[in-house]
Amino acid sequence: MLKITDIRAKRVQLKLHEPVVISRGTITHADTVVAKVLTDEGICGYGEGSGATFITGETTETILGAIQMLKDELVGLDPLAIGHIHRVMDQALVGNGSAKAAIDIALYDIMGKAVKAPLYKILGGISSRIETDMTVLIDKPSVMAERAKEIAARGFRFIKVKAGSDPDEDIEAIRLIREAVGPSVHIKIDANQAWSVPECLRIMERLLPLGVDLVEQPVPYWDLDGLAQIRRKARFAVMADESCFTPQDAVALIKKDAVDMINVKLMKCGGLYRAMEIDSVCRAAGVGCMVGCMVESRIGIAAGAALVASHPNFRFADLDSYLYFEDTGEIRGGFIAKGGEMLLTDEPGLGVTVDMEWA
Ligand code: MG
Repeated sequence: MLKITDIRAKRVQLKLHEPVVISRGTITHADTVVAKVLTDEGICGYGEGSGATFITGETTETILGAIQMLKDELVGLDPLAIGHIHRVMDQALVGNGSAKAAIDIALYDIMGKAVKAPLYKILGGISSRIETDMTVLIDKPSVMAERAKEIAARGFRFIKVKAGSDPDEDIEAIRLIREAVGPSVHIKIDANQAWSVPECLRIMERLLPLGVDLVEQPVPYWDLDGLAQIRRKARFAVMADESCFTPQDAVALIKKDAVDMINVKLMKCGGLYRAMEIDSVCRAAGVGCMVGCMVESRIGIAAGAALVASHPNFRFADLDSYLYFEDTGEIRGGFIAKGGEMLLTDEPGLGVTVDMEWA
């Protein structure tokens, strides 16, 4: 039996090409946490925890602290017993999805390395190819249209647009973006909780003729009734993001008929194991999933991509965060990207090479 002998975690600073703006704040550079799980047979796995304080409430410090605390519970356990390990983690510590995701991803990396298979096959998939969108962040509408044009020219067929600062500007931005990218690019919009129910209905009615047929998290995360009200009246699809962290959250949304889709993020739910639980609930209820990301490097992104590649109910991938960083050279591989297409490696596990000093 394999045994976990140690878990280490390290803060890694990723330098963004440009500042990132969403309706709740601005990020100029990003911290992430890389975790390394060691075993008695020399196999080690890498995972990642990326806190977005305004969504998960976790910071780099809390992620590092939580991993340190969980380490004491997990050393000596079989790293392949991932369901058991999640139960142990949840008994010791409520929430803290990003810290748990860092460990979870590393365990799946170990599993892949132990059986010498890539993660997308470990998770049950056959195809190594997925397609992701890229996000246009809030800026002046003309600047957003310029960005969208660049993204489409790079070969992305799916674009996600952040909204929620000013309704007229949101509509103007989409109008200019549609003009810039032409009719065939799929555009969805993410309001990051910024709208009320009537605002959402009013704005989306004006966006429909521009070919926007999906809105992500229009209202505050706690307002499930608001989501349900929108969905009852909407001629567009409603996706929850901040309203869904856990499989239980997914059930609550489904019971209220509040969503057509859920944006599943490994950092919200605690990793691949829980993400697959959310997907099962959704698939059975006829609700689609998308994999999203926080500010993650190739480690978290490769894990999310493997999930999409192996689970067809994940109809969209929003796995673009790594594109915003300057290459550190410390974290390499996992996949090859060309435009929106990502081709996962056939190396065992995540297939990500991590070259860094561990204290
Ligand atoms: Mg979102």
